[in-house]
Amino acid sequence: MNKLFLEENLADIRGKGLERALRLAEGPQGRKIRINGRDVLNFCSNNYLGLAGDARLARAAAEGMSREGFGAGASRLVCGNMSAHLQLEAKIARFKGAEESLLFSTGYMANVGILSSLFGRGDIIFSDRFNHASIIDGILLSQAKMKRYPHKDMGSLRKMLSEARGFRKRCIVTDSVFSMDGDIAPLDKIVSLAEEYDCWVMVDEAHAFGVLGEQGKGAVELFGLEDKIDIQMGTLSKAAGCFGAYCCGSRNLIKFLMNRARSFIYTTGLPPGVAAAACRAIEIIEDEPQRRERLWENTRYMLNGLRRMGWETLDSQTPIIPVVVKDAGLAVTLSQRLLGEGVFISAIRPPTVPQNTSRLRVSVMATHEREDLNFVLDCLARIGEELCLFS
Ligand code: PMP
Repeated sequence: MNKLFLEENLADIRGKGLERALRLAEGPQGRKIRINGRDVLNFCSNNYLGLAGDARLARAAAEGMSREGFGAGASRLVCGNMSAHLQLEAKIARFKGAEESLLFSTGYMANVGILSSLFGRGDIIFSDRFNHASIIDGILLSQAKMKRYPHKDMGSLRKMLSEARGFRKRCIVTDSVFSMDGDIAPLDKIVSLAEEYDCWVMVDEAHAFGVLGEQGKGAVELFGLEDKIDIQMGTLSKAAGCFGAYCCGSRNLIKFLMNRARSFIYTTGLPPGVAAAACRAIEIIEDEPQRRERLWENTRYMLNGLRRMGWETLDSQTPIIPVVVKDAGLAVTLSQRLLGEGVFISAIRPPTVPQNTSRLRVSVMATHEREDLNFVLDCLARIGEELCLFS
């Protein structure tokens, strides 16, 4: 083994100020989190509705485990298909208004499995430049031709579509809420283009499930496009506060994925307790719309506060609010200074975001109190001034 390879690469990452490290977060996920032994406000979680630390999910998981044990023991297609999986799939399909749904172990595995099984050589996939890494990996694995269009740029997408001739299948794939920018894909325009150019449409609702739409069904509900999107995926790890992911759509789509998606076939089923907790999470999402209302109130308050101060927040329209400082080192300094004040917001640097767009990714939760938001805004005003970040 060439040890120099590792040393040289690590030195390179370090030299660019891009080294990543894990921090220990103790205790349940909440509006406060214990980092390095100290309670700090948590403003970087995807736990938008505050369900990850909700005792009702832990109880549902414990009940699920006491009924069906801890592990699924095998792939769903061997002997690991348990009643908690079937109940959750039925609940997701009903909630989303789809014919059927299929569970995957993670959102990452869902994207990789869906794209690599449905598309192959001779197909072409149009992908927004800011799509999540798991979408890109799925396209690469599929061996279809990948055309990345500039972020939400429908003119460029149209041009690419009109120039793409001779492919067997075409697909447009997009995050519905972009994970690092917090803006929303123009799904209505994407669907119109897809109809015009005879394309499939796939939407990743990871950050929209439980958040967008009157009933929290996602951006597809917000745009009223339930019948127009061929492939909807989402994860249960963010607003639902659990783990695992789904794909939903037509009966035949789900049957196909069950037979062909390798990340579904060749992996162990989700622990039944996890599936039981996710079922409970969806019930709470349906029964407690006040959580979503509170989330949006907090989001509006934070967005307005940051914009009034003059921070660059891009086109954010959701609880994900980027605070762009451009320089990677500066983003880390800002994050460290905030942590010193008792606010945890991690710095996001390349390659997760494009060069010179390093940022803090602020994410707002339903469970934040008004005083939490004011505290963060005050800290950002003071530290931003001290670091000369306002022009
Ligand atoms: N898609 C998007 C848009 C995401 O942001 C993420 C998670 N960061 C995923 C998929 C992967 O989901 P999971 O964490 O369940 O693997």
